[in-house]
Amino acid sequence: MEQEKELLELALQCGFTHAAPLDVSTLHVMQEVRDMCAVNTCGMYGKRWSCPPGCGTIEECEERIRRYHGGVVVQTVGQLEDSFDVEGIQDAAKRQKEAFARMTEEMRKRYPDMLPLGTGCCQQCAECTYPDAPCRFPDKAMSSMESYGLLVNQVCTDNGLRYNHGPNTIAYTGCFLLP
Ligand code: SF4
Repeated sequence: MEQEKELLELALQCGFTHAAPLDVSTLHVMQEVRDMCAVNTCGMYGKRWSCPPGCGTIEECEERIRRYHGGVVVQTVGQLEDSFDVEGIQDAAKRQKEAFARMTEEMRKRYPDMLPLGTGCCQQCAECTYPDAPCRFPDKAMSSMESYGLLVNQVCTDNGLRYNHGPNTIAYTGCFLLP
C-alpha cells in the first residue's frame, strides 16, 4: 500500500495529470490491437525495434507482460479550445512524452527490470537501428501499450481511470509494469 501511494505521488511529481494502480490481471493481450498496428496508420510499423514486428510476436509480448505482478497506469489529459485545437493536442502529447521520460528514469532507479509501455513509438534516436543492428539504448527504448496488444480504453476503465474526459479534451496513457 505504501509502495502504491509512493508510485502515484511519483507519477504526479513527474508531470502526469492522472495515475492509478494497475491490476495486471486486467491486461488482456489482443491480436485485434496488434492488427491495428499492421494497418500502419502511424507509419512506424516495421520501422523501430519498439514497434511490431520488431518488439516480438504477440505471444512473446504476452509472455513478457506475465512476468510482472503490479504497476501503475499514467495519463496526461489536455484541455482543448475545440476539436481543431492542434496546438493543444501537441502540447498534451509533449507533456506526456516528457513526464514519461522523467518517470522512466526514476522507475529504473527503483526497479531496474520494470517494463515501461507508453504512447506512440520509441523516439530515442532520430534513426532507429532496426533491423540491421541491435537497439542502441535497450534501457531507454519504449514500446507502446498497443504494440503489446493492449487496448488502452479497456485498461483504463478496468483500473478506475477515465479514458474519455469529456468534450474538448485529449488523453494520452501509458503504464509501468513492476516485478
Ligand atoms: S532506442 Fe533507438 S535503436 Fe532502440 S528502439 Fe529506440 S529508436 Fe530504435
